[in-house]
Amino acid sequence: MRTRPGFALLLVALGCAAPAHAELDRTERAIARHVADGQPAAEALLQRVVDIDSPTENTAGVRAVGDAFAQELRAIGFSTRWVELPAGMKRAGHLVAESGGKRGKRLLLLGHLDTVLSGERFRRDGSRAYGTGTADMKGGAVVMLQALKAMHAAGVLEARPITVMLTGDEEDAGMPLAGSRGPMLELARDSDAALSFEAAIDGTATIGRRGINSWTLEVKGETGHSSGIFGAERGSGAVYEAARILAAFQAELGAEKYLTINPSVIVGGTKAALEDYRGTAEGKTNVIAPTAIARGDIRYISLEQERSARERMQAIVERHLPRTQATLRFDDGAYPPMTPTPGNEALLEALDGASRDLGLGPVAALDPADRGAGDIGFIAHLLPCLDGLGSGGGGNSHAPGEYTGLDTMTPMAQRAAVLMYRLTR
Ligand SMILES: [Zn+2]
Repeated sequence: MRTRPGFALLLVALGCAAPAHAELDRTERAIARHVADGQPAAEALLQRVVDIDSPTENTAGVRAVGDAFAQELRAIGFSTRWVELPAGMKRAGHLVAESGGKRGKRLLLLGHLDTVLSGERFRRDGSRAYGTGTADMKGGAVVMLQALKAMHAAGVLEARPITVMLTGDEEDAGMPLAGSRGPMLELARDSDAALSFEAAIDGTATIGRRGINSWTLEVKGETGHSSGIFGAERGSGAVYEAARILAAFQAELGAEKYLTINPSVIVGGTKAALEDYRGTAEGKTNVIAPTAIARGDIRYISLEQERSARERMQAIVERHLPRTQATLRFDDGAYPPMTPTPGNEALLEALDGASRDLGLGPVAALDPADRGAGDIGFIAHLLPCLDGLGSGGGGNSHAPGEYTGLDTMTPMAQRAAVLMYRLTR
């Protein structure tokens, strides 16, 4: 992927001169200073939005977090609107804010307002801020705002075409996806690059995120007295067939880079049922099991990898053991991958340059295996994208005890602000 000529061309296409170790110019120094000055306000805003509970299903809470950010964005000249989604979708909708600028490259800044869990209030402990969403990703949305405010204070925000989209259902996207993600696709089609402020991981940025989908394996076999198993009349039963298929997934696809297939739940027996992620089963030891059902996920770095893996999985399924049948079904709600591209690499190089010039050290690409799927995958096929620009977090994401490093906010916002300034210059 690291094709230098392609990178150089794209860098030019993005309007980014990015000499390797240039100094900051006077404007950039002013931006960096304004970011640092904005730290107390950023911390106060983080506390305010973390203390508004906003798990995806709490649409009023998500909307309230959106209103808080909308107010801040309007204060620096953005016009804001709320994108409503159909009521049946049971999702809050999205906040969109536009600078209205016309000069230079058009940037789309992404983040989300919702959280997976709820209930942990903002709590400061030294340089750490604990609370639901501090790391994923209210901290990142605050870093985005801290960067924009600094650009505004330095007088370089006006006239730059910057669009902010904070989605209300990143953690559990409304279905159908075409409806809940359509507005983002529209904005991406009118943009030249997308920057997403999900949590930064160990000083890296993200040029690739794997896509994800779910699958269900349903297996049928003959039943009868257990002594008949392995025989021609009864065959192998459903449990052996399910085990064969899953073992073959690992044996034949398990070594492929960035491809993972995780069977998360399995039931089998004379009676077996699975609803979402909860199953029931029963079967006496002297009876051959006629039913087995398994469910799981699949993650992939490109649509090509997904297609190829699906084909091989189906081929494995079709090699049935005697007197068994099986079907493998994939869900409709796939999160597409953010496949690493030369355009994404170019953005990373520009961020790396900004970071070095700020004296903040180099920025490397995060291994795509170290991060789950995200909203940016829906638009990554349309334009150069970079993710992981938010605050540095810690603790288990999607689990109690998450925190963000308050001391990461200013450096991350400085990097992002100088990057945005250079991209739109
Ligand atoms: Zn997130």
